[in-house]
Amino acid sequence: MTYCHTNHKKTRKVKVGRYAIGGSNPISVQSMCNTDTRDLKATIDQIRRLEDAGCEIIRVAVPDMEAALNLGRIKSAIGIPLVADIHFDHRLALEAVRQGVDKIRINPGNIGDREKVKEVVRACKPAGVPIRIGVNAGSLKALQTEPNPKWKPYDWAKMMVKEALDQARVLENMNFSDIVVSLKADDLERTVMANLLFSEKSDIPLHLGVTEAGSFLSGTVKSSLGIGLLLSQGVGDTVRVSLTEDPVMQVRAAYEILKALGLRVYGPDLISCPTCGRCQVGVGKVIHELEDRIYSDKTLLKRSQGRKIAVMGCVVNGPGEARSADFGIAGGKGKGVWIEKGKQIKVVNESEWVNEIIRKIRSVK
Ligand code: SF4
Repeated sequence: MTYCHTNHKKTRKVKVGRYAIGGSNPISVQSMCNTDTRDLKATIDQIRRLEDAGCEIIRVAVPDMEAALNLGRIKSAIGIPLVADIHFDHRLALEAVRQGVDKIRINPGNIGDREKVKEVVRACKPAGVPIRIGVNAGSLKALQTEPNPKWKPYDWAKMMVKEALDQARVLENMNFSDIVVSLKADDLERTVMANLLFSEKSDIPLHLGVTEAGSFLSGTVKSSLGIGLLLSQGVGDTVRVSLTEDPVMQVRAAYEILKALGLRVYGPDLISCPTCGRCQVGVGKVIHELEDRIYSDKTLLKRSQGRKIAVMGCVVNGPGEARSADFGIAGGKGKGVWIEKGKQIKVVNESEWVNEIIRKIRSVK
């Protein structure tokens, strides 16, 4: 089942290092480091882990000049485009451009007057560095003049879109069109409305996310709904799932959303049963171990790409439910039946399930 291959709204193409956002490019997956950017080793280590997990564009916070001065060294140690996240002080954006970053993210609500934004544009243009205008509901400029707004969600959405378009116009009036916009709120209604509204008014590519989404469970649910609703309407060009979690899990969640919508193929389709009173094996342990091993190993990821692999708890329903899988196991007591394309091939001890599946993936040509 696919959703928006045919109805995906065509946006302008914006190059970000070796990737491009918008146009007819695949929806890219982004994340943001939660390390202190002043800590070079921790930040580079985390980005490398994220690269292995499939992160395509990485953003780091630039809270001060010490962090800004580290950006060049971070960039030279990683293989994916680096985005500098700037709030309040436009001089940090100017330094980030000097350091060779691939994109700047600024928040018009707190960067100060337009002259400062223009200075950033004048630095980005000759360097070929695009700018993301990141509008957050919580820091709308309009809130400064209307201290106690009684806006309804649609009013919020309109204000968010207006702020993004006003800001984009400042850049476009300077003949700068390498712009990406994000419109985020901490609830779905405003986020979805704002993005839908913006997409009707502009061809600027949209970076999707629900800000402050929450813990792994609530954040994944919120993000899946928000991002999924928009993508299913053909809106959105790059995604970042915000979770209070290891950023690797943000990347994994983002791919699961894209895979579920049929928009990207990434790694295997691992299916497992929820288990019930018939189950006498550790399905949960096996599936988690499999996920960890596959998603931290580029070769396994590549070889398992698009394969459906099943781990089922019993032979009552397991073989039937695993029939549609390329291969997998249906449990018994301490062992399981190995199934390939619906055919029962052999019996494997439970302690060997993960290794057997990994061996099978490695043997895939
Ligand atoms: S496959 Fe077996 S163990 Fe798993 S839920 Fe179905 S009946 Fe229960």
